[in-house]
Amino acid sequence: MALIVQKYGGTSVGSVERIQAVAQRVYKTVKAGNSLVVVVSAMGKTTDGLVKLANEISTSPSRREMDMLLSTGEQVTIALLSMALQELGQSAISMTGAQVGIVTEAEHTRARILHIETDRLSRHLNQGKVVVVAGFQGISSNGELEITTLGRGGSDTSAVAVAAAIQANFCEIYTDVPGILTTDPRLVPEAQLIDEITCNEMLELASLGAKVLHPRAVEIARNYGVPLVVRSSWTDDPGTWVTSPKPQGRSLVNLEIARPVDNVEFDTDQAKVSLLRVPDKPGVAARLFGEISRQKVDVDLIIQSIHEGNSNDIAFTVTTPILKRAEAVAAAIAPALRSQSNPKSEEAEVMVEHNIAKVSIAGAGMIGRPGVAAKMFATLAEAGVNIQMISTSEVKVSCVVDAAACDRAVTALRTAFEIEAGKQGSREAGEAGEAGGEFLTQHGLNAPLSLTLLNTQHSPPPVRGVALDMNQARIAIRQLPDRPGMAAKLFGLLAQHNISVDMIIQSQRCRVIDGIPRRDIAFTVARMDGENAKKILTQVATELGWGEVVLDSAIAKVSIVGAGMVGQPGVAAKMFEALAQHQINIQMIATSEIKISCVVAQEEGVKALQAIHAAFGLAGSEKFVIPA
Ligand code: ASP
Ligand code: MG
Repeated sequence: MALIVQKYGGTSVGSVERIQAVAQRVYKTVKAGNSLVVVVSAMGKTTDGLVKLANEISTSPSRREMDMLLSTGEQVTIALLSMALQELGQSAISMTGAQVGIVTEAEHTRARILHIETDRLSRHLNQGKVVVVAGFQGISSNGELEITTLGRGGSDTSAVAVAAAIQANFCEIYTDVPGILTTDPRLVPEAQLIDEITCNEMLELASLGAKVLHPRAVEIARNYGVPLVVRSSWTDDPGTWVTSPKPQGRSLVNLEIARPVDNVEFDTDQAKVSLLRVPDKPGVAARLFGEISRQKVDVDLIIQSIHEGNSNDIAFTVTTPILKRAEAVAAAIAPALRSQSNPKSEEAEVMVEHNIAKVSIAGAGMIGRPGVAAKMFATLAEAGVNIQMISTSEVKVSCVVDAAACDRAVTALRTAFEIEAGKQGSREAGEAGEAGGEFLTQHGLNAPLSLTLLNTQHSPPPVRGVALDMNQARIAIRQLPDRPGMAAKLFGLLAQHNISVDMIIQSQRCRVIDGIPRRDIAFTVARMDGENAKKILTQVATELGWGEVVLDSAIAKVSIVGAGMVGQPGVAAKMFEALAQHQINIQMIATSEIKISCVVAQEEGVKALQAIHAAFGLAGSEKFVIPA
C-alpha cells in the first residue's frame, strides 16, 4: 500500500483512447492497493493551439489573460479522465489548481509555487477516491485569487510539488519516451536508457533532460527527497529512477522560493597549475590531460579561456598532496607544446599557485535565477575578495580565491545566503557526498515502502549522459580590470535584465595596460539573449574601463555529466581525446565536480556529441526508435 502521484503528459492523454488507457493504468494501480493523485497536462498540443489563437488576436496578449486561457487546457483533461475512471467503476474527482489550493506567487505565466493545501486532497483520498488534479496551474494568494500558470512544461512541477506536500512514497512521470536517455536519440540513435540518475546529474544535464522533465520539478524532488520515476505510458517498462539525497526536513512553506542556495562549500587544500600560451589547435588539451591521468593525478576544476591570437591558457586545480606530480607533468609537456606551434612565438609557460582556496555556492534553486551568481560575486566584492577563477554549472558556482581570503569569503557568503555556520561546507558535503551512494530508499510517513528498484550497491558510472546545447552564444569582454567587484558589476547588470549566464570563464593571462592589471572574461548566454546582452554591456564598457565586447553565436556546448567522475582521474582526458581524434578544436573548457563542458564551433557540435558519447561506451547496439 503506497501513496503515489502519477503525472501524465500531453501525448499520454492526447485522445479519448489514450485517456481510457490512462484510466486503466490508474485503475490497476488502485486495485493493487495504492492511493492515487493523478496530475494531468492538457490533451496533445492543446496548449500550443491556445497560444496560437491568442497570437491571432493580439501580438502582445496580457499575461493575465494568457493564464486564463491556457489553464483551460488542463481543465478539459481532468474532467474527461475522471469520467473515464467512473466508467470503470472507480470513484474519482477532478480538481483545478485553485480547488486543491496550489498557491503560487501572483506572477502570471511563470508563477512559482508557495505552498499546497493538503486537506481537500486527503479527505477525498481517505474516501477511496482517485483525485485528478490539473497540472501547470495555481491560484495566487494576494487576496485577488488570480489563476496563474507555472510556465510551459509546468505540469511536472505541479506533480512533484503535490507529491512533496502529501508526502507521497514516490512520483511517477508518464510520458511518450521510455525514460531518460544517455543523449538525444535524434542525434545519436545508439543512445541508451539510463535506469537510475541522481537529481544533481539530471539538473546538470538540463539541456538534455529538460525536454523530458521540467528542471523545476527535479529541483523540488531534490529539495524534498521525492523519489521520481520517468516512464512510458505505452508500456510497463520500469523507466528511469531519478534519486535524491536524504531530505533535510525542509519546510513546505514557500516551497519553490525559499532558498536558492542551500550550501556554501570551501576547499583550502587546493593548488592551481596554469599553462599559458599553449597553441590553439585540436589535441592540446587531450595531450596534457592524457599525460596527467597516466600519472594518476585527479584534477578538480579545469578552465580554458577564450584564445588570444593563436594561443590559449589552460588552468586546472589539484589537491595539494598531488601538486608536485601535476606540476611535473605540466612542466614536462610545455616545451613540446611550444616547439609544435610557432617556435618564435612567446613561449608556453607553467605557473603554479599554492595559496588558493575554492569557495562554492550550491543549490538547485539558482536555475533560471541570474541574480544568484551575481549576488555571490557582489558579496565577495563587498568583502574585498578578488576572484581568480570562476567556474559555473547549473547547480553550483565556484570561485578560486586567495587562501588568505577564504574565511572572509565563506563568512560573507553564509551571511548573504542565510546558511547556518553549523552546516559544514567541506568538500565532502557537496556533490561528492552524493556519489557515496546515500540515496533515499524510503519516503513517506504513513506508508513505508521499500523501493527495491533503487539499487544502491553499485557505484555510479563516471559519465551518465552527454548533452549538446546548440542554443548558446558566447560573449567575451576584453581587458577587464582585475580587481574585486568587476564580475559583480558585469553579472549584476545582466541579472537586472533577467539574462541567465551559463559558463563563465576568466582568462589566466593577466596583462598590465595603462598601469592596471587586466584579464578577459567570457561567458555563454542563451542565444536569444546574445544581442541584448552585448548591447547592455557595450553601453557601460567605456565608463567602466573595459575593452571590446565580442559576441559569437556560432558555438555549441557539449557536456558530460556523472557523479562517478569525482575522484576518478582520466575522465576529462578521455573527453578531450575523443575531440582530438576528430580534429575538433576546443574553444573553452569549464568544469564542476560532476560535469565537464567544452565549447566548440557550432558546425562541429553534433560530431563532438557523437564522438564523446561513443568514447564513454554509452552507445548500445540497439538503435533507439523515436516514437512518431
Ligand atoms: N500544458 C502545459 C504546456 O504545454 C503544461 C504541461 O503540459 O506541462 O506547457
Ligand atoms: Mg512535459
